[in-house]
Amino acid sequence: MKALVIGAGIGGVSAAAALKQQGIECEIFEAVKAIKPVGAAISVWSNGVKCMNHLGMGSIMDRLGGPMHYVAYKDGINNSLMTQFSLSPLVEAVGERPCPVSRADLQEQMIDWWGKDSIQFGKRLESLEQNANGVTAYFTDGTSAHGDFVIAADGTHSKARKHVLGHDVERRYAGYVNWNGLVDVSDDIAPPNQWTMFVGEGKRVSVMPIANNRFYFFFDVPLPLGLDEDRTTVKQDLTGYFEGWASPVQTLIQAINPDTTNRIEIHDIEPFDQLVKGRIALLGDSAHSTTPDIGQGGCSALEDAVVLGQCFAKIKDIEAALKEYEAARRFRVKDLVLKARKRCDVTHGKDMSETLAWYDELKVESGEGIIDGLKKTILGGPLA
Ligand code: FAD
Repeated sequence: MKALVIGAGIGGVSAAAALKQQGIECEIFEAVKAIKPVGAAISVWSNGVKCMNHLGMGSIMDRLGGPMHYVAYKDGINNSLMTQFSLSPLVEAVGERPCPVSRADLQEQMIDWWGKDSIQFGKRLESLEQNANGVTAYFTDGTSAHGDFVIAADGTHSKARKHVLGHDVERRYAGYVNWNGLVDVSDDIAPPNQWTMFVGEGKRVSVMPIANNRFYFFFDVPLPLGLDEDRTTVKQDLTGYFEGWASPVQTLIQAINPDTTNRIEIHDIEPFDQLVKGRIALLGDSAHSTTPDIGQGGCSALEDAVVLGQCFAKIKDIEAALKEYEAARRFRVKDLVLKARKRCDVTHGKDMSETLAWYDELKVESGEGIIDGLKKTILGGPLA
């Protein structure tokens, strides 16, 4: 049995790893010659780390995971502490730690783990054709490949999605812009073992420790779509948006390197129920594009991969196994996308009275409420 996997992101490589565990041959096709991830880092929460372990890639997490032991929210303007708590109760409850990791390092190490030379780079999927015997993938360079089935992990702008749904879908602008990158850890910004968030005015500034004494930082600002801003204006843009904010935020703005700071207009896609058509299955962002507000997009791609493997372990018929994958995943991924959307709206001042109420809640939060929420999300995964 042979699978064609489209995309060599977190979803594609993890899907190939899961299928390989079931003895299924996989060929991975990636559009670009060198992958340039859109974000500087991601937090792989405990459910994602469990999936990486299950797929045989746990050592990557060990190498790259940052020392995130505490969480703190601070008032972004006056720097007062709203809440601060240890993540140990979460780790004890769910049985695994979260790992914030450099995204470029994660991507590179996953590709190396699979074998860079056995991935076909520069192969951009153009279209798919399926019949009772298999699927043919056609690429923009005029070549094609044939397999028994296709796992389309070709991201949020998926070309394969319309072959499954029968129509295109629009991405939905979530209402805010995210700037992200890496800086050296500094006590003038935040403690090096803590995920620190500064909030105020519906905006958010976050620093999260990753390996090798670096902070993954991001700034979120609610803004209209399509502003004329990019890397060249990043420092002046952030200085303007965070005028009057506390000194750690100003120190962070001065520390960032504009050349490596990403500016992203955050989108998601209205969840849909169909993830599979015949021998073509969507996986990762092609199947469920979420805002990053609960840090579960990449984690759910990893969960998809684990479940895909579990389905082929139980069911040998291809179409039946893929249908089982769809049934096992569609409610979970819809739930995560909608949960992230809700969190996004509260965090970013969609209704400012709700955001102000959340700030008040944070001031009396012991950590238990936030840990409970994280626990529910993590334990909803396939390896709970
Ligand atoms: P992608 O990473 O997009 O990979 C798709 C791959 O397919 C790419 O390599 C692309 O080049 C290739 N491709 C595209 N089109 C074609 C084609 N036609 N033919 C062949 N190949 C193609 N998730 C978390 O779990 N935790 C976080 O903290 C987190 N933070 C985030 C922060 C930001 C700012 C953003 C934007 C996202 C964040 N995410 C996070 C989400 C996470 O990045 C995605 O969910 C994850 O990368 C999805 O992986 P994927 O493999 O499905 O898609």
